[in-house]
Amino acid sequence: MSQNTPIKKRFIAGARCSACQAQDKVMIFITPDDEWIECVDCGHIERRPTTVVSKGSFDAMPAATETEQVEVVQIRSMR
Ligand SMILES: [Zn+2]
Repeated sequence: MSQNTPIKKRFIAGARCSACQAQDKVMIFITPDDEWIECVDCGHIERRPTTVVSKGSFDAMPAATETEQVEVVQIRSMR
């Protein structure tokens, strides 16, 4: 069907292969269905989720702790 679709590959700067730990040897390429990373050093291929895992509950947790600490300070200073 779409076998003639060109797949662009590009290196990920600073990325490390999870199999052989080689740095700057990992390429990423995107197919219509998924993202893949390929290590040119050892040939390891791994599928990546297309959703970005940058923002989430991971960032919200320390922020919530700081807010609690500020509230405690404000209550004490008002007395
Ligand atoms: Zn590798």
